[in-house]
Amino acid sequence: MERLVIVSNRVPDPTELQQPAGGLAVALADALRMEKSSLWFGWSGQISEQQNGDGLHSVTADRTTYVTTDLTRAQHRGYYQRYSNGIVWPLFHYRAGLMDYSRTDWEAYRAVNRMFAEKLMPLLRPGDTIWVQDYHLFLLAQELRALGATCPIGFFLHIPFPPWSLFRALPFATDVLKAMASYDQIGLQTREDAYNLNECFRITRIEASGRAFPIGIDPVSFAEEAITSAESPEARRLQASLRGKPLIIGVDRLDYSKGLEERFLGYQQLLRRFPEHRGNVTYLQITPVSRGEVEEYRLLRRKLDEVIGRINGTFSNVDWTPIRYLTHPIPRPLLAGFYRLADIALVTPLRDGMNLVAKEFIAAQDEADPGVLVLSDMAGAAPELPEALLVNPHDPDDTADALHRALKMPEDERRARWKMLDNVVRTTTAGSWARDFLAALRGQTEPRM
Ligand code: UDP
Repeated sequence: MERLVIVSNRVPDPTELQQPAGGLAVALADALRMEKSSLWFGWSGQISEQQNGDGLHSVTADRTTYVTTDLTRAQHRGYYQRYSNGIVWPLFHYRAGLMDYSRTDWEAYRAVNRMFAEKLMPLLRPGDTIWVQDYHLFLLAQELRALGATCPIGFFLHIPFPPWSLFRALPFATDVLKAMASYDQIGLQTREDAYNLNECFRITRIEASGRAFPIGIDPVSFAEEAITSAESPEARRLQASLRGKPLIIGVDRLDYSKGLEERFLGYQQLLRRFPEHRGNVTYLQITPVSRGEVEEYRLLRRKLDEVIGRINGTFSNVDWTPIRYLTHPIPRPLLAGFYRLADIALVTPLRDGMNLVAKEFIAAQDEADPGVLVLSDMAGAAPELPEALLVNPHDPDDTADALHRALKMPEDERRARWKMLDNVVRTTTAGSWARDFLAALRGQTEPRM
């Protein structure tokens, strides 16, 4: 019988999947709904030094079995914190200078990829198709093949893929590329990412290629959620606090790829250069702290506290604060309502694989009176959403100009731009992403098991 096997670093708790928190879980939950039977394998999120028996935890819900393994403290540090998040993440977001590498981290990364393969192998059966997610698991197909797996194995990279001139700074870069060639289908977010990867394959003479499959959201359910949640007590409190003035919203994990400091400086330029907006606009920035155990993220948090403190100190009034800043997560359904109330979304990453917040904001708008998306040209979503106000996130004056234009934009222009953006968000969805990828993977390789 056909079965889809998803492998990702973190496996969501099936009870969380009813109200999924993040992009990956949402998109894959959609994919799972289309399958007759599926298995989701990965890390449990737990750290333990001692494991009993095969060390696996298993739970089944709705035709999907979730099987997870714990990591030891050393594996978690070397494979996850250091190699995946301290080396691959910065380099693939074009920040080679932030890489913090040591040979032992690469060894830990290889060992955990091998351990995943060893634990997954006995669970496989004829008719399986494996779909591996993201940069934690570049080596998994190679390890599975070494153990004798013959089923189709696909890989999707959720983050950007850098050009060869940067990628080659990754120690053992060619080994990673060779391992990627063990996948039958490689998916990337954008054509630029696919081009970069394919150039790396060409230059190193490795026979493989990747294709763009841009990820989306579930726009219909998100729009419904936005309508309901805009009437919730929390959303009403937010609305009442605005006193009829426009709301700018930003929603990003606390990460250096999101361009938060540059964005705050852009907003500061708006207040400096267009004083008419002082006291007449509210900017709500929701930035849940992530990866707080990594030094770079602690430094960033301190830096942002300082920049926001300075802007608020300079421009605040007794009855107005320029930036409202939250560092705790907001449940996604409530966010949907906040997006609907907002007049502008400020989405200005320095680099981003896709950026689902941009698509969620569009889906949440009121057709009769839609808001404006100010979007970084460097987000993976930008090529799909050209009717947004595109900015260079490194130039605070560009962001300020776009904000001013958005605040002044006539209703008919807002509606025309939104209509075109909404059309894209409604046609390239989480469901179509998974369907297209799996059709390409299954169509390309005959099951050999
Ligand atoms: N999100 C959330 N609560 C928050 C902040 C973010 O539920 O407080 C969700 C947001 O709605 C989106 C996801 O987290 O679905 C972030 O995805 P995105 O692609 O924008 O960025 P990533 O965090 O994956 O880099």
